[in-house]
Amino acid sequence: DPLVSAYAAEEDQAAEQSVRPKRLAELIGQHRVREQLDLLLQSALRRGSPPDHILLSGPPGLGKTTLAMIVAAELSAGLRMTSGPAIERAGDLAAVLTSLSEGDVLFIDEIHRIAKPAEELLYSAMEDFRVDVVVGKGPGATAIPLDVEPFTLVGATTRSGLLTGPMRDRFGFVGQLEFYDPDELELIIARSARILDVPITDEGSTEIGRRSRGTPRIANRLLRRVRDYAEVRGTGVVDLAAAKAALAVYDVDELGLDRLDRAVLRALIRQGGGPVGLSTLAVAVGEQPDTVEEVCEPFLLRTGLLARTPRGRVATPSAWRHLGLPVPAGTVG
Ligand code: ADP
Repeated sequence: DPLVSAYAAEEDQAAEQSVRPKRLAELIGQHRVREQLDLLLQSALRRGSPPDHILLSGPPGLGKTTLAMIVAAELSAGLRMTSGPAIERAGDLAAVLTSLSEGDVLFIDEIHRIAKPAEELLYSAMEDFRVDVVVGKGPGATAIPLDVEPFTLVGATTRSGLLTGPMRDRFGFVGQLEFYDPDELELIIARSARILDVPITDEGSTEIGRRSRGTPRIANRLLRRVRDYAEVRGTGVVDLAAAKAALAVYDVDELGLDRLDRAVLRALIRQGGGPVGLSTLAVAVGEQPDTVEEVCEPFLLRTGLLARTPRGRVATPSAWRHLGLPVPAGTVG
């Protein structure tokens, strides 16, 4: 479901560009990571050398790419962007690394999905700013050492646990992004509305913020959909009535759960509330296990609708109540 998916759809990419905060001071929420990054960047600027490599982890849509761009902006550095899945061979990565200028920021999204040989090449680049490029095959193969300009790697991953130990160890800074509170999302929505020139009431932004799954990307997308609704069927103003009506059209419920979230809860409930293993659950809702684990679960856990046990996922009493079902005796969570 592209509307409430936290992954960026094509539509988002252009729309998001204009509302993306450009500097740390413009960032809303994430106070802890913001403070930590501020110190890291300020001290690097004072020393006049690139900061430690930075790992950002958290569910999609919380601001990892935005932060990578901000890191480059705060350092007045060049920015190169790529992603783990795009780096299939060590040679692909070597080409990127050797073309960096001094002080550049290299952003690798989904860094946990980088191919193994490329990952090993990355280790030496991160540690010693050099790479050994192997030329030829078999007994005649030779390793040619190449220098890499000092750079800062910003890696993004949905969960830092997905990284191998040696990879994690090479980051001097690990920032864990958290879901946003409804009042922070409300501020993000009000800011975006201002930039996009969309008339909005306080109640409108409160309602959209409350139902955005703790995720700025979803908040901005819901804002655009409620705006469409307000323009076509309403008064043109994003107010409470437009927000409620539009979100009903798009099947976003009171807690901001989308169809997939509800499908996950229903699948658990069909099994008496669980426990159900991840792969069984993914099959039941027709999704990849990764999507269920990285996108649905963190939010369902955070809202207390789902719990993880050693034997699998379980629906909590709140989940039964949210779906309007009587809570069976003995349900815990
Ligand atoms: P990720 O890389 O974690 O998937 P992005 O950095 O692409 O997420 O963020 C998605 C969108 O959400 C961005 O376009 C940006 O407009 C918005 N956004 C993210 N974090 C913030 C924030 N702290 N304040 C305001 N807007 C934000």
